[in-house]
Amino acid sequence: MSAIIMDGKALAAKWKADIREKTARLARPAVLAVILVGNNPASRVYVNGKERDCAECGIRSQEYALPENIGQRALLELIDTLNREQEVDGILCQLPLPEGYDYDEQEVLLSIDPRKDVDAFHPYNVGRIMIGDSTYLPCTPAGVMALLDEYGVDPAGKRCVVVGRSNIVGKPMAMLLLHRHGTVTICHSRTPNLGEVTAQADILISAVGKRGLITADMVKPGACVIDVAMNRDGEGKLCGDVDFPAVKEKAGWITPVPGGCGPMTRVMLLQNTLTAAAGKKGS
Ligand code: NAP
Repeated sequence: MSAIIMDGKALAAKWKADIREKTARLARPAVLAVILVGNNPASRVYVNGKERDCAECGIRSQEYALPENIGQRALLELIDTLNREQEVDGILCQLPLPEGYDYDEQEVLLSIDPRKDVDAFHPYNVGRIMIGDSTYLPCTPAGVMALLDEYGVDPAGKRCVVVGRSNIVGKPMAMLLLHRHGTVTICHSRTPNLGEVTAQADILISAVGKRGLITADMVKPGACVIDVAMNRDGEGKLCGDVDFPAVKEKAGWITPVPGGCGPMTRVMLLQNTLTAAAGKKGS
């Protein structure tokens, strides 16, 4: 039997409608400052998408497009100003920063006021995620949890395998599953016999970035398979890590790419911005 397709696009639309309703009730519009340094075309596409999402949900985005040679010091000064601006609720700096200059991404992330860190990348917020007491959840893992909840896939007591250990996806993903009482294994590029580990997963999450990595023989029958990755196939079309046509015949649930985790990641940025605005006195 074919797996249930976990429709991230439809769920994101529901979340957006809810966020729109809540932002309309704020005393003043929620404001997201979006910093883009340089002309990376992919970053421009992401920023445009985020600004469109904001507009759809009644969040005001303020773009700061800076030349690629603006330098670390000027960037930190801008962030410092935005940290202090009362009406700015959230700040995001689109990564990666341009290569060939003196940028230090870690220092940039550290300079954002944790109360305005709607990407949840600041070590303070990462620490709060570790102890299960977070205001902001990292967008991609939070989107995955919302999909699991929507489709009634409860991690409690389940064997969960996360492939990928990045700071923005793999590690926080594992932590959220652990807080929801999953038994969690994290795999990475040094994991031997990956397929043996993934085949034990009731919930399998792939966040690697390698097309065709997860084949049907690596999946337990009836498992929930979440494909976080965004790759391009030979024709330039968006695809994930999972061999979707074959795995969907074996899994119980599966996310498509596109239309699975991507829209939910985007919606969680809006949710975090709403949380930031709603948490302020007088909002
Ligand atoms: P990343 O920082 O490059 O991390 C990739 C992880 O995959 C690393 O931990 C790496 O292991 C592991 N890995 C590499 N080859 C492997 C292999 N053969 N077997 C097992 N593990 C392997 O990437 P990321 O930022 O986490 O993103 C992962 C993917 O998700 C990318 O395709 C990205 O585009 C996508 N993404 C999608 C969204 C969305 O909205 N849907 C959001 C963010 C990211 P090591 O640590 O050992 O190197």
